[in-house]
Amino acid sequence: MNRRVLVTGISGFIAQQITVDLLQKGYAVRGTVRSLAKQDRLRSIFAQHTDASDRIEFVEADLERDEGWEVAADGVDYVQHVASPFPMAAPKNPDELIRPARDGTLRVLRAADAAGVKRTVLTSSIAAIAYGHTEPHEVLTEENWSDPENKRDCPPYPASKTIAERVAWDFINKKARGMELAVINPAGVFGPILSADVRTSVGIVAQFLRGKVPMVPDMGGQMVDVRDVSLAHIAAMEKPEAAGQRFAIAGDYLSLLDVSATLAEAFPAYTKKLPTKTIPNFVIRLLSSVSGDAKTASYEIGKRRIVSGDKAQTMLMGNPYISGREAIRQSAKTLLKYNAV
Ligand code: NDP
Repeated sequence: MNRRVLVTGISGFIAQQITVDLLQKGYAVRGTVRSLAKQDRLRSIFAQHTDASDRIEFVEADLERDEGWEVAADGVDYVQHVASPFPMAAPKNPDELIRPARDGTLRVLRAADAAGVKRTVLTSSIAAIAYGHTEPHEVLTEENWSDPENKRDCPPYPASKTIAERVAWDFINKKARGMELAVINPAGVFGPILSADVRTSVGIVAQFLRGKVPMVPDMGGQMVDVRDVSLAHIAAMEKPEAAGQRFAIAGDYLSLLDVSATLAEAFPAYTKKLPTKTIPNFVIRLLSSVSGDAKTASYEIGKRRIVSGDKAQTMLMGNPYISGREAIRQSAKTLLKYNAV
């Protein structure tokens, strides 16, 4: 019998890659969707990337509702809890992100623990490590936690990821009946998409190629490839020593201008559409009260948040990370392949 893994939010960018990789390793996958109406389309996407798509089943469950999670967790060996709201623009009310992230994580963990699941791997983020610090840090590690109370430096999405990860550890340490937890904290995830469904992170590359970004804020971030992120999730599920650990998956730092230059070099036909100039920081600050995008950027300008990805490399991956530039190129290549630009 194939060991079965529950993947929450199987329609998402990262979850799709994890699903393909799990199937290739011989696992059976049960994926949660908010609506079963998505299952035929998803099955046809997976069938293009693996000949094991008959080992996938779908169940309906929403992070904001109790229904469905007990059925979803029944009979599974492991859980990959990947689902969490990750919108392009921050909502006015942070609770729109925090509530589903936090309460959904608890729903998943409770159901998994009650069903006798051996281990859950939670997809957190470096956003749960690198925000809200009052002291300067050259390099942050898994020892560091973002502080959602410091609202000047911790916007709603990092707050949602931090609070969700905190409640997960709290549940495991105080209430679980024996289930283990491992947490993956990726930096910005790029790399190949498996279909024309373009979500938040790769959506940035799509916006660049569409010529929708004439100038960029003076900001950037560490980047990783979704294939490495998936590898880390599966290693964190399989390796005994990963239990009880959090792992940052963080590669090299690229500014938005570096991203643009990488695209221009690899896809010269798009050069004219790609930005080459930055927006002055004072303009971003001025616009931040009227524009959601400027508000999001205002938390990043003038800051360089660096998290070490060394622990995951040593304990989980073995190989060096795929470079940030290669991840960006693969996003662009597959966006073009699926006519998603
Ligand atoms: P996607 O937006 O592609 O996927 C998010 C998934 O979560 C979708 O399947 C979505 O379902 C599901 N989801 C959202 N809200 C709910 C809800 N209320 N109930 C049930 N499912 C829900 O994002 P990514 O794949 O990029 O992100 C996956 C995880 O990785 C998230 O936890 C994110 O925070 C984390 N992460 C992502 C990074 C990145 O750069 N991409 C970096 C670091 C962490 P639906 O299809 O119905 O919308």
